[in-house]
Amino acid sequence: MDRFDPATINVRSGHFIDGEYVDAGASHIEVARPSDGVIYASVPIADAALIDRAVQNAWTAYGTSGWARTAPRERARVLRRFADLVAADADTLAPLESLGSTRPIRDAFNWDVPFTAEGIRFYAEFADKIGGDVAATDHDHLGMTIAEPYGVIAAIAPWNFPLVMASWKIAPALAAGNAVVLKPSEMTPFSVLRLAELAVEAGVPPGIFNVVQGDGRTTGDALVRDPRIAKVTFTGSTRTGAAIMAACAESGTKPVTLELGGKSPQIVFADAPRLDDVARRIVGAITVNAGQVCVAGSRLLVERSIADELAERIVNFFGELKAGPTWAPGTTLPPIISEPQAVRIDTIIERSVASGATLRGGGRRADAATPGAFYMPTLLANVTPDTEAVRHEVFGPVLTLQTFDTEEEALELAAHPEYGLAAGVHTADLGRALRMVRGMEAGTVWVNRYGRTSDFMIPTGGYKRSGIGKDLGRQAYEANLRFKSVLIDVRL
Ligand code: NAD
Repeated sequence: MDRFDPATINVRSGHFIDGEYVDAGASHIEVARPSDGVIYASVPIADAALIDRAVQNAWTAYGTSGWARTAPRERARVLRRFADLVAADADTLAPLESLGSTRPIRDAFNWDVPFTAEGIRFYAEFADKIGGDVAATDHDHLGMTIAEPYGVIAAIAPWNFPLVMASWKIAPALAAGNAVVLKPSEMTPFSVLRLAELAVEAGVPPGIFNVVQGDGRTTGDALVRDPRIAKVTFTGSTRTGAAIMAACAESGTKPVTLELGGKSPQIVFADAPRLDDVARRIVGAITVNAGQVCVAGSRLLVERSIADELAERIVNFFGELKAGPTWAPGTTLPPIISEPQAVRIDTIIERSVASGATLRGGGRRADAATPGAFYMPTLLANVTPDTEAVRHEVFGPVLTLQTFDTEEEALELAAHPEYGLAAGVHTADLGRALRMVRGMEAGTVWVNRYGRTSDFMIPTGGYKRSGIGKDLGRQAYEANLRFKSVLIDVRL
């Protein structure tokens, strides 16, 4: 699918509790399409009473539905069916995802939906694989650890990849036998409702996968603080992550998984093969989803001798991108999520230029056929580690350029005072690549590529202020389990 007519998309709104749509809330939030700013639907804001109802329902379902107690292979079978239904629903899910988000329809159809389905399938396969361990003890005892679900897990998701980010939370939680209450971003609230519907259709008991709608201050905070929530898993900004961690501490020392912001460097050495390919990779890493990606490769560090040549190629490739609404064919530069966010990007660039940075491309709104907030891919040179665009997560198609002469200098520039989410190294020298891998404080390092493959076993998560814990991989499955130690005296 490479296009759709936004006027033909039917949006179902509400919360999804106990297997049913619920339209309750003291007030509503109007939801706009980033592609043209048109308000196309509204969502109710769940208040404390509704959160109480949703979590209580989840608790009851957790205790009575048998989801946690069923044979793990049966849970896996249901989740595989869920994954199949998601994949088969692409004609509905992809436009629904694309309509109100920044995901171009071609990407939503070819990547977001199948990747969501495959993530669910991946975790289904874990359901009967990790049950605990038997310990080496003396002959008078049998010692073991038993893996058990937490109970009800609260999952809070951001807007940049609404389905995929939600699936990274709900799939391991459900596979491990938990019930989930998911709060999507208030800016992209609808596609996960369809996901929850499909879960019930696949046989996930009603009440095991719930969706509550609302903003962070009212709904998210009430959800995190609910005493029946056993664990919180969150993806979003570092600032919100800190607030959630504090709320978890204040409401009962709940464990948290936090996937947070980043300011990821890409280091290019002069020996990197095929400079055109390198330039394309770098452009992709800062313009996919218009740079609204946690792991966006936003700080380019280049060996001085090739810096000008690489910059020129990057700016040329920037020129090939086509700004347009998510529903138009051929869109490769989607909109910024909201007008205030586009203004924020512009302000950061203005202030960076005022402090001495020079523009080598972009630095302004893009022309597009619709009145949405589009921003030109931007390259900023003559920056220092203190330049605002280098220091802060911009969350837009903004790349900064710094040069280095030695490996030590590259590592020094790569280190960010707060973030440590991801990094890229481009070089033909394996030893040098490994020295960079070892030398950087980052949760993920890509060598001669940038970005994930579909290898779900490789986890993602940040060092430093970029997060705590991992999504994906075995680690994310185990993070949805508690391990009970049992020691039996066998002499009786
Ligand atoms: P955000 O922090 O503003 O919001 C994320 C979610 O948290 C939303 O659902 C929001 O309603 C909710 N929320 C806000 N305040 C809350 C509170 N006090 N209590 C509970 N919930 C609250 O982030 P965003 O703008 O939606 O997403 C962009 C950010 O997410 C960027 O910083 C990006 O780097 C980060 N991100 C990280 C990853 C990762 O894997 N590390 C992936 C995607 C996005």
